[in-house]
Amino acid sequence: MNFPLSLSFAEARARVLAAVRPLPAVRAPLAECAGRALREPLVAPHALPPFRNTAMDGFAVRSADVAAASDAKPVALRVIEVLPAGRAPAHALGRGEAARIMTGAMLPEGADAVVPFEEAERAGGGADERCVVRRASAAGEHVRAAGADVASGETVFEAGRQLTPHDLALAAALGFAELGVGPRIRIALFSTGDELLDVDQPLHPGAIRDSNLPMLALLLRASGGVLTFAERLRDDAGRVAARVRDALEQSDVVLTIGGVSAGDFDPVKAALGELGGVEAWRVAMRPGRPQAFGTPGGKVFFGLPGNPASVACVFETLVRPALRVLQGYTQLDRPRVPVRVGARIESRAGRTDFVRCVLAWRERGLVATPAGAQVSGHLSPQSRAHALLVVPEACERLEPGAAAEALVLRPPEG
Ligand code: AMP
Ligand code: MG
Repeated sequence: MNFPLSLSFAEARARVLAAVRPLPAVRAPLAECAGRALREPLVAPHALPPFRNTAMDGFAVRSADVAAASDAKPVALRVIEVLPAGRAPAHALGRGEAARIMTGAMLPEGADAVVPFEEAERAGGGADERCVVRRASAAGEHVRAAGADVASGETVFEAGRQLTPHDLALAAALGFAELGVGPRIRIALFSTGDELLDVDQPLHPGAIRDSNLPMLALLLRASGGVLTFAERLRDDAGRVAARVRDALEQSDVVLTIGGVSAGDFDPVKAALGELGGVEAWRVAMRPGRPQAFGTPGGKVFFGLPGNPASVACVFETLVRPALRVLQGYTQLDRPRVPVRVGARIESRAGRTDFVRCVLAWRERGLVATPAGAQVSGHLSPQSRAHALLVVPEACERLEPGAAAEALVLRPPEG
């Protein structure tokens, strides 16, 4: 028989993270890179802006020419060229010369400042166009220097960054049509339980609807997964072992839900012997104590407990971080923020508790209050919660006002 291995939460997490390695990177077009892990440093092949250009519509001038300009002594400059954005200047500016120039256009040689249209007057026209300037312009005024945004050769992003649409704008400006990013992870998901129904099946005595399968399917997709299997299985250890074996061949990660504790009909627990390389665990965490984990054939297997709160908690604290290692992210967890505790929270020394909490902004920062009774079979506290408040292993209780840390699942309203 499989005697479960008793582990602290920290030990379980260390074992999971030590067992997973990043999967090979893939090259993906920019449009498919948002949210994914960049797998190589991004080094600028050229400067941004690539050339000196104007930040305003106006006249490119030599600041020395207008240094003495005033209302009493306006300076008239000869306009030798018109420069829309996209056209390179054909002439350098000589003394007493200006170019009419539009935002983003390259500054001519010799020009070192731009006088906005609002601050100059146009005189004459055609070949005889002039601009009249009535105040001095400092060198560099309204000029965007080449390389002021990004220097050529600069490391713009380190590997492991989660790419945002704004990052991809920068990559596009630098000419990267595709990037090396973490792969989509092929994940198989099985729920187990003779009591479970499809969402559209009517209830009958003893039966409940399967709520974990749709929840995890969505969480896994949102975490970079592509589902190879999403099935419910009956409490039949032979069938569970066979389906998991098939799934391991076609997936990077296989997850089961339920059937992993000490009940008479727990099929995942019973199938572990047949799976090989998977251990039953008893992790000193709440919720989520009974689990199974292993890397059979180099793939990753998680046997999650069945209670909805346990599934959500183990997903956030162990599964999602492992998926993020597989994809190559540096940042593994949701944001961890300091909070103050809003109501007394009981725990037990030697156990790490993850308390489903509502967050609220108060004068001194965020306050976390339990989002209802912490019953692992209840769904509504999880749905109300903004965060999982961490009660550390050594801590027996947290009093109101105590400082703690919370993993933010979603921002609080307001
Ligand atoms: P188990 O570990 O299989 O005994 O499951 C523990 C509890 O979670 C039982 O009350 C199950 O009915 C419930 N449960 C297991 N799987 C699911 C599921 N997919 N959706 C909703 N509840 C579940
Ligand atoms: Mg079950």
